[in-house]
Amino acid sequence: MNRRRNEKVNKSFTESENIMAEFLGSERRTHYCGELRVSDAGRQVCVMGWVKKQRDLGGLVFIDLRDRTGIIQLAFDENSERAVFEKAQSVGSEFVLSAAGVVRERSNKNPEIPTGDVEIFVSSLRVLGESAVPPFDITDDCKTAEEIRLKYRYLDLRRPKLQSNIIFRSQVARAVREYLYGQGFIELETPMLIKSTPEGARDYLVPSRIHKGSFYALPQSPQLYKQLSMVAGFDKYFQLARCFRDEDLRADRQPEFTQIDMEMSFVDTDDVLAMGEGLVKHVFKECLGVEIEGAIPRYTYRECMERFGSDKPDMRFGMEITDVSDAVKGCGFPVFDGAIEAGGSVRCINLKGMAEKLSRKDIDRLGDYAKGCGAAGLAWVKRGETDSGSFLKHISEEYLQKLFAASNCEKGDVILILADADPSRLLLQLGQLRTEAANRLNVPREGYKFLWVVEMPFFEYDREAGEWVAMHHPFTSPLDECVDMLDTDKGSVRAKAYDLVLNGIELSSGSIRITDPGLQAKIFELLGLSDEEARIKFGYLLEAFKYGAPPHGGMAIGLDRLVMQMLGAGSLRDVVAFPKVQNAKELMTDCPAEVPEKALEELGIKIK
Ligand code: ASP
Repeated sequence: MNRRRNEKVNKSFTESENIMAEFLGSERRTHYCGELRVSDAGRQVCVMGWVKKQRDLGGLVFIDLRDRTGIIQLAFDENSERAVFEKAQSVGSEFVLSAAGVVRERSNKNPEIPTGDVEIFVSSLRVLGESAVPPFDITDDCKTAEEIRLKYRYLDLRRPKLQSNIIFRSQVARAVREYLYGQGFIELETPMLIKSTPEGARDYLVPSRIHKGSFYALPQSPQLYKQLSMVAGFDKYFQLARCFRDEDLRADRQPEFTQIDMEMSFVDTDDVLAMGEGLVKHVFKECLGVEIEGAIPRYTYRECMERFGSDKPDMRFGMEITDVSDAVKGCGFPVFDGAIEAGGSVRCINLKGMAEKLSRKDIDRLGDYAKGCGAAGLAWVKRGETDSGSFLKHISEEYLQKLFAASNCEKGDVILILADADPSRLLLQLGQLRTEAANRLNVPREGYKFLWVVEMPFFEYDREAGEWVAMHHPFTSPLDECVDMLDTDKGSVRAKAYDLVLNGIELSSGSIRITDPGLQAKIFELLGLSDEEARIKFGYLLEAFKYGAPPHGGMAIGLDRLVMQMLGAGSLRDVVAFPKVQNAKELMTDCPAEVPEKALEELGIKIK
């Protein structure tokens, strides 16, 4: 994998550039550090880079010189010119050097690095830039606190791991462009200073100096512009779009991020999914050499929730949820009976063959975890020579056998059972429990498992705000067969909306859009937006739809998350060159920052 990537990087010097550089002499770079091999022995070369390490052994000096492609050893000895030798003795870590000389085979080879068979015996050495002592060691296993590394992000980025992550990201971006251009897409830039686009988050606002008291919003997504570009006739649009969402930052989110944003005309759901699928397959093949075999499976939202308790399930392991309500109905155990009588259900997860592995303590911990997710308590049974469990004295042997049959619980298995009067709440709890149990049991999770989640609900009820909101966004088309339910049964309306999920992470969402102004007006009304409000907020879109709107739809794939998944990186900060931290600060430039009083005055703003 790495080799594949490096080969691409090293292509940057063309043969003609190399010949030209040799012709011009040692002042021009001829090679990257990481590309020299034994086959280059005898060649006069010039490399430029940073001192990773300098070793002065008295009569011998070695310098490991690093650039984005790797490391090469520079050698100096008693045959070196005095001035060159002394300069080599004087350089420190992270000095920037230009070194010219002859490539030669090393007597003491280093099998750890691709250039380990060779070194450059340097005849000309120039210091292009000195360096203060860096605040931390620029190595991949550097243990310095992340805050310090983020403050000096440009140094952190010199670490080989981060370098290769960011270069990989650039290769992904390139593969995306190649694919979409190949499919006839047009790359179109939409504005950053816009009127709000609702994606369910808070806008970042930018005050206008010329129009005091008025504000631009930074785009939460280019949603409305991409739809308008369909009205304009561009047919297939894409953009690697920066998006901004002012959310309370939960674990691993960035207030600004990049989406592979697409929109297509004259399409339905199948067309958009086929395009998205082709794109991710191309990117995986090109950048990782990984073939994503077969069609990406599709599950309806409902099926996903019922089987995995999540709309973004990790499909690398099973442990599906089973409804055992019918088996235990009337069993006499008040927890189960109570839930069923109240209109709810009893459901379980079977941890196949885990009876030995899962200790009593583990089960108690899972119980605490389930309670933390809002469950009243965890019921469980372990099947062994003798069965043990949390509720066996409350249930007859007959019911127990029925439960085992319904949950396919055999000797050696453990079943974890939850009951709740609210079936959707129950499924969410079980979904969380499923992931937690897999984590605790170290269930192997390998490879890349994609799925499409289709037929997402149109509305969801925001309990805090006490109102119905659009689960995707208000421009999403309901399924044709659900239009009649808009007035009578909002909660059951399903949408032509779909998510792409990879290994338990939502990579993308999208939908087929509404183009009928009457239906759009109806949706606004159902979302509690008066005609007047809708006109003020989105009048331009409704107006545009009067002038021949083609049917259209699209999707947006989170580039940062995609790259993170492809690399198996631990955090978005490992794949974003200049990230922000949890509280939305950027530590290197120390922003957000206060501004001079005068700037506020010009904007007509007073800070309370
Ligand atoms: N604008 C949507 C989002 O950012 C994507 C789409 O509907 O195409 O999630």
